[in-house]
Amino acid sequence: MTTPAVEVFAVPAVFEERESEIRSYCRAFPAVWTSARGAHLYAADGRAYVDFLAGAGALNYGHNHPALKAALVEYLAGDGVGHALDMHTTAKEAFLSAFVEDVLEPRGLDHKVQFTGPTGTNAVEAAFKVARKATGRSGVFAFMGGYHGHTLGSLAATANRYHRGAAGVDLGNVTFLPFPGGPTRDLDTLGYLRTILADSHSGVDLPAAVIVETVQAEGGVNVAPAEWLAGLAEICAEHGILLIVDEIQTGCGRTGPFLSFERAGIVPDVVVVSKSISGLGLPMALTLIRPEFDVWSPGEHTGTFRGNQLAFVTGTAALALWRSGEVQRTIERNTALISDILARDVVSLDERLELRGIGMLWGVDTARIDPTGVLAAAIGERCFADGLVIERVGRNDTVLKLLPPLTIDAFTLGEGLAILAAATSSCLPT
Ligand code: PLP
Repeated sequence: MTTPAVEVFAVPAVFEERESEIRSYCRAFPAVWTSARGAHLYAADGRAYVDFLAGAGALNYGHNHPALKAALVEYLAGDGVGHALDMHTTAKEAFLSAFVEDVLEPRGLDHKVQFTGPTGTNAVEAAFKVARKATGRSGVFAFMGGYHGHTLGSLAATANRYHRGAAGVDLGNVTFLPFPGGPTRDLDTLGYLRTILADSHSGVDLPAAVIVETVQAEGGVNVAPAEWLAGLAEICAEHGILLIVDEIQTGCGRTGPFLSFERAGIVPDVVVVSKSISGLGLPMALTLIRPEFDVWSPGEHTGTFRGNQLAFVTGTAALALWRSGEVQRTIERNTALISDILARDVVSLDERLELRGIGMLWGVDTARIDPTGVLAAAIGERCFADGLVIERVGRNDTVLKLLPPLTIDAFTLGEGLAILAAATSSCLPT
């Protein structure tokens, strides 16, 4: 494989000298960003990049969507409340009403909405705590390859050893099960679960909850079959185990429907949502809880930043876009485009390349050519040199993950895919 001639960026000294070694995305994409619009990021040197990272899923509507930006600017100009803990505000009322009307009621979901701390992991922590409180049990079943965040509770359910190793303490109370994708794809998890849960001598205690992603995004774009998800929900219901669906990356239209579990016809007990729920990339996270499991006492799980008023404003505007049907139409068109072009121009380059995905979440897996991830890294670097921001995920980061804004126009989508095809072609071993 060839090593791309990647430009060397002059990174301002303050980042290397004073920002913690923890920094990550800026190492893979070492530009200095100044502005962004739609599916484009603009660097300080004036170069435009097509953005297939989209804030790791926080920018389903692209950068600075005009309708969302206008709502925010109007709210700020009118001295709208900027911070209010979890007190009632008109901004929160509008968001909650729209969320109930546009997301929950049409799907027959009677879940209560908990506004947690601002980021995805906060919603997962709340989900685990409420499930433990509601059932009086401590264990959680999670899946190999799964990703749920980096605070201690959610990290315990995150499979990646590199991330787990940073915990500094034992991560307990979680049992990992094989996921129907990735290296464990052929194992019969549902059969195993049915057997061990029914067997009083299995030595496995009944857990409080099972947490699952319908598509493991960070885990390498592994799509769980709908019937498998339905089977899992059935087992949970049979044994009084709460089913938590992590919609943090798959939600808000990423896989087609607003919530990705819809394709399986299931109703989870708890759903966690974050990333694109505010539309504009502002932090907000929700834990949706079936009323019978909303066993919290007032203030038992609290925090200063549970009510991002600005996120409520842009989130309400984003739900209005969804209601108009405009976003769904674009997703349908883009889904057809992205899957067709990837199959025709990228995966056709080598029969060992594997394409996986659904809706607007796709992965090109290079592991069968190079399981070490060197090839995928070379392709990613070549893409960046040619003006495309694209992330790598999965075991050894062998999978190039495509996560463009759902609203990307067909021309820009084609442009990004052409860069990926050329980069793949130039980096493949001859
Ligand atoms: N769950 C899933 C499926 C995610 O993809 C992520 C983040 O990528 C998280 C949880 C954690 O969210 P956050 O990084 O906002 O804490």
